[in-house]
Amino acid sequence: MQSKADEIRFSIALMPGDGIGPEVIHPTRKLIDQALARVGGVALDYQELDAGAECYKRTGVAMSEEVFQAAAAADAILFGAAGLPDVRTPDGIEIAPQVDLRFRLELFAGVRPVRSIPGASAPLADPRGSQLDFVLIRESTEGLFVSRGKGEVGEDYVRETWEITRAGSERLFDFALKLGRRRKQKGSPGIVACVDKSGVFRAFAFFRKIFFERAAAFPEIDARAFNVDATALDMIRQPWTFDVLVTENQFGDILSDAGAALMGGMGMAPSADIGLKHGVFQPCHGTAPDIAGMGKANPTAMILSGAMMLDWLGETRDVAACGVAADLLERAVDAAFATGELKPVEFGGASGTDEIVRRVAEKIASLPLSA
Ligand code: ATP
Repeated sequence: MQSKADEIRFSIALMPGDGIGPEVIHPTRKLIDQALARVGGVALDYQELDAGAECYKRTGVAMSEEVFQAAAAADAILFGAAGLPDVRTPDGIEIAPQVDLRFRLELFAGVRPVRSIPGASAPLADPRGSQLDFVLIRESTEGLFVSRGKGEVGEDYVRETWEITRAGSERLFDFALKLGRRRKQKGSPGIVACVDKSGVFRAFAFFRKIFFERAAAFPEIDARAFNVDATALDMIRQPWTFDVLVTENQFGDILSDAGAALMGGMGMAPSADIGLKHGVFQPCHGTAPDIAGMGKANPTAMILSGAMMLDWLGETRDVAACGVAADLLERAVDAAFATGELKPVEFGGASGTDEIVRRVAEKIASLPLSA
């Protein structure tokens, strides 16, 4: 962060990646700047960085050390999407610099909000299914993903194992409990639930025990524990009962896609990967090679991830203007969809990337600065 006269400037590492990544990140950058310009007092300096499958094909590495260091030095990282199904390392693994960033920058909390957008497609018939507002926190540096690239492969068997530490679990649960508290102050019920499989695996009995130990320091939070299978059921049966869910890496990977479906689809679901110092903000979707280059990509998830970046900068650097711009961006998305006229191609409509961006831009220009 730098201050010049009375303007605060943050440095942003812009990592477009592959497929639809560049198509959604570049217009999002313009919308972020538009929202900040309306609020005033804060500006962003972007450095575009090359990483992903195309980079791997061209250079032999998915993310160079130089690029990693530049990303690590920025105030925040805005990431499009990376990886292509036919570009793999010799052991058959897809290129995923975003996963490397999570491990190397210790981005232990994968924050996946599931918030219904008025006027957007909602898959559940129950009207409560279009008024969802909960957050799934996916642990992102431990769990089954510790085995990534290290699985033991024999002739007739493979072995990949979970790894969960006390320190990793404590920081994860503290993050989730603090988020539950912050949400409660804004009117949410204050229910934080640990999602695990503790009746079957010792790893999760350990995980759950630490959750309740940490929750004891948050008396205002209603701390609960759910089995992951029951949670999968309730994500379809009654997701409106959730407030904050916190879970292991692999379980979170799966449940967060179900969360994206509850928001209408992959193009609607934003995410943030947060550590003690760094934050990467990226839509939940992948590179969608089937629609890349056609102007069909829904940029909403990317735009909402940009709003999460502004919110995080505002919160962690104590810069109120960033929070106001984040709120403006989010309300602009809601207002654009609320007209009922936006029908993304993703849901069988005709609204491509440009139209969605244009309508959100119109709302940023016309909405009042605070709700
Ligand atoms: P990854 O493994 O990298 O998460 P994936 O293979 O699971 O990726 P995605 O790239 O997310 O899958 O795509 C899944 C489906 O959703 C594809 O049919 C894709 O076209 C669609 N999709 C994903 N993102 C968007 C978007 N922003 N707009 C429209 N459709 C999308």
